Amino acid sequence: MIQAKGYAVQSAESKFEPFNFERRELGANDVLIEIQYCGICHSDIHQVRNEWQNSTYPMVPGHEIVGRIKQVGAEVSKFKEGDIAGVGCFVDSCRACENCADDFEQFCQKHLVLTYNSTEMDEKTPTFGGYSNQIVVDENYALKVSAEQNLANVAPLLCAGITTYSPLKRFGVGKGQKVGIVGLGGLGHMGVKLAVSMGADVTVFSTSPSKEQDARNLGAHNFVVTKDPENLAPLAGKFDFVLDTVSAAHDLNMYLNLLRTHGSMVIVGVPDKPAEVHAFSIIGNNRTLAGSLIGGIAETQEMLDYCAANNITSDVEIIPIQQIEEAYERTIKADVRYRFVIDMQTLA
Ligand code: NAP
Ligand code: ZN
Repeated sequence: MIQAKGYAVQSAESKFEPFNFERRELGANDVLIEIQYCGICHSDIHQVRNEWQNSTYPMVPGHEIVGRIKQVGAEVSKFKEGDIAGVGCFVDSCRACENCADDFEQFCQKHLVLTYNSTEMDEKTPTFGGYSNQIVVDENYALKVSAEQNLANVAPLLCAGITTYSPLKRFGVGKGQKVGIVGLGGLGHMGVKLAVSMGADVTVFSTSPSKEQDARNLGAHNFVVTKDPENLAPLAGKFDFVLDTVSAAHDLNMYLNLLRTHGSMVIVGVPDKPAEVHAFSIIGNNRTLAGSLIGGIAETQEMLDYCAANNITSDVEIIPIQQIEEAYERTIKADVRYRFVIDMQTLA
C-alpha cells in the first residue's frame, strides 16, 4: 500500500487533525498524483458536519484536486509522469450502465464512487479526498489540466467550475439572454465568469452589499441586494435563466418570479432543509424549475479546455492546511473571496 497523509475529522463535532492512511498500490490503469492544491467546497463543510445525514468518519474531504503525476500504471495512456492532472467529485463508476455509457457517470445506476465520504466499487473500502498529499486514481477518472494556468486557481474548476458550466450549457445560455446568479460564493463567482464568457447579460443576486464591486469586476452587469425583496420587484418576469447556488435555506419563489415566459431556474445549492415552492411560482409564465449535479468526465474535460482557451480560473485565497477551521467559519459567513484553496505543501 502507499502511505498517505492528510487532515481528517473523526465526527461531525470534531476539529480537523493530521491523519495518516493508505492509498491502494498502483493498478495497471492507475495514476499516482502528488496533490498541489485542493479547493474548499461548501459541500465539504456540509459533509464534515453531517448536514446531509450521510457522513462516515474518519473523513478526509476535498474534491477540487490539482497536482502532478508522480507515477503511472503499466497500461496508462492518457498521462505520463510529470503531467498536471485534476480530480473532481468522483473517482470511479460502473462504466457499463446507461448513464455511464452516456457520459453521465455522476448518475451511475450501480455505484458512484465519490472522491470521499464514499466507498470504492466493492462498496466497502472507504475513499479519502484531496486534503492530503497524494491520491491514486484510475486514469479514466482523472482530468487533463493545462500547465499554463495558475494551478491554485484551476483547482476550484473541478467542482465549482463544472457545476456551473454544465447547467449554463444545458440550457443554452448565450448572447442576448438575461441571466441571474443567486449567491456570490465559490460556485456563484464561477457562474458569473462563465455566463459572461458565453455572452449573457448577468445580474448577481446577493445578501452581501459589500460584494457589489467584486461582482462587477467579475463581469456582472448588474447587482441586486436581496435582503430587501422590494429590490427584486421591478425585475419580475425579465430573466431567461437563473442559477441558484445558495448553500443555506432560502425562499425560491422570489427568484422563480424573476423568470420570463418559458424561463428556467436551476438549483445547484444543497441547503440542509427542503424548500417550499408555490405552484403559482412555476405555472405562471410556464416556468421550469430544474436541478443539476456536477458533470460527467467528458463534460468536465470540455469545461477545463474551455476555461483554458478563454483564460478563466477561480479567484482564490490560498491557505496553509492548518487554517482549515478558520476557512470553514469564514465560508459559512459568506466571507470568502471567492474560494479557499489549500496549498498542500504546507502539509508537513
Ligand atoms: P459558498 O462559497 O459558501 O457560497 C454560497 C453563497 O450563498 C454565499 O457566498 C452567499 O452569497 C450565499 N448565502 C449563504 N448563506 C445564505 C443565506 N442564508 N441566504 C442567502 N444566501 C446565502 O458555497 P459553494 O461552495 O459555492 O456551494 C454552494 C452550494 O452548492 C452548497 O450548498 C454546496 O453544497 C452546493 N454544491 C452543489 C453542487 C452540485 O453538483 N449541485 C456542487 C458543488 C456544491 P452572497 O454573500 O452573495 O449572498
Ligand atoms: Zn464541490
